[in-house]
Amino acid sequence: MKSIRQSQLFTKTRREAPKDEVSKNAELLIRAGFVHKDMTGVYSYLPLGLKVLKKIEEIIRKNMDAVGGQEMFLATLQSKELWEKTNRWDDKVVDNWFKTELKNGNELGLGLSHEEPLTNLMREYIRSSKDLPKLAYQFQNKFRNELRAKSGLMRGREFLMKDLYSFSKDEEQHLVIYEQVKQAYTNIYKEVGLGDNTFLTFASGGIFAPFSHEFQTLTDAGEDLIYLSREKGIAINKEVLNDEVLKTFNIERDELEEVKGVEVGNIFSLGTRFSSALELVYANEEGKRIPVIMGCYGIGLGRLMGAIVEVLADEKGIKWPKNVSPFHVHLLNLDTKNELINEWANNFFDGLTQAGVEVLYDDRDVRPGEKFNDADLIGIPLQVIIGARSFETGSVEIKNRLTGDSEAMAIDKIVDYVMNVI
Ligand code: ATP
Ligand code: MG
Repeated sequence: MKSIRQSQLFTKTRREAPKDEVSKNAELLIRAGFVHKDMTGVYSYLPLGLKVLKKIEEIIRKNMDAVGGQEMFLATLQSKELWEKTNRWDDKVVDNWFKTELKNGNELGLGLSHEEPLTNLMREYIRSSKDLPKLAYQFQNKFRNELRAKSGLMRGREFLMKDLYSFSKDEEQHLVIYEQVKQAYTNIYKEVGLGDNTFLTFASGGIFAPFSHEFQTLTDAGEDLIYLSREKGIAINKEVLNDEVLKTFNIERDELEEVKGVEVGNIFSLGTRFSSALELVYANEEGKRIPVIMGCYGIGLGRLMGAIVEVLADEKGIKWPKNVSPFHVHLLNLDTKNELINEWANNFFDGLTQAGVEVLYDDRDVRPGEKFNDADLIGIPLQVIIGARSFETGSVEIKNRLTGDSEAMAIDKIVDYVMNVI
């Protein structure tokens, strides 16, 4: 589905906000027909939403491959015995499990993360230091019994995560990878259009350094409190802010503004926490068994999509950055009743599509006002508007949803213009 006629799309926009939805991202995405709310914290992706999700996925995949990540796909059903070995099966230790059981009564877990099964699996492949370093990643649904799931796509009970894991022979090797992934993450947020709003943030849980790193996108819909100095480029999660930390960064409390953010990704050194418990070891030159150093690196795709909506939307609707927009162009034909114009618009649609442009073609028999409102709600960055007038003047109107600018353009210039923008 590179291009599609809107009359064929089974989803429809709606004017009213869903009654049971409190978050802006979910409200807009439901109204515009990107997602369906099945129940609290559980959303299904409809054709438009899936297109956005896939574009985000492709950007992440490209950047994970670039740092040497190898894609895989692990099972969701997880063995209780493995999680007992790392002491994470007990509900008193991990409080957001979804557990289930086999017919014979044996318990299983629905994967909330994948350190245990992957570490266990890697034992079969990592034998000596020559097998290291290795990076493996996947796009997988995670299941978490979140206490509060009020942030729409930003906090689901079932959600798609990219999780990358690194395996290194020593701290030095690990830290090189850690820096490379950090850079890859910075690229990803830039590419999806959140570069200006997303900050590398110091958070709790460091192993080789005093901190782990989160990527926080600033939005009032976020659940985290961040202390930020835009001038010095320093962001600190409230959970680790204290006098000692301020001293470490050589910064005063009043140089930092308090802002709200959503954690759109995090990178974490795990040390030997999992490799020791599950005996993922390699033999060094002297034959000594050394536990592998691990790192884990997560990005929630739905959360990222929700964050884009929260940060960029205006009172009319969503605004997609071009790299993640479901289509490049929203083509609006205002005169579907006029046969001549209809035929001409159809040809124009075919021409754009053949040139490789992804087009949502509003060929529906509805009033222009409704088309304009829907186009602004759906949020495709370029709107190309044609009607009887363009047929007479040989020019069409191009509207940029991101800037609100609008201009008339000769018809034979459109394809070049669009190709240039995308
Ligand atoms: P949070 O602190 O927000 O609860 P977390 O620290 O538990 O998240 P991780 O377990 O490290 O998150 O998961 C990696 C990434 O997955 C997060 O950075 C976030 O982008 C995403 N994520 C985590 N929980 C959810 C969720 N419930 N819904 C959607 N995305 C999520
Ligand atoms: Mg967190």
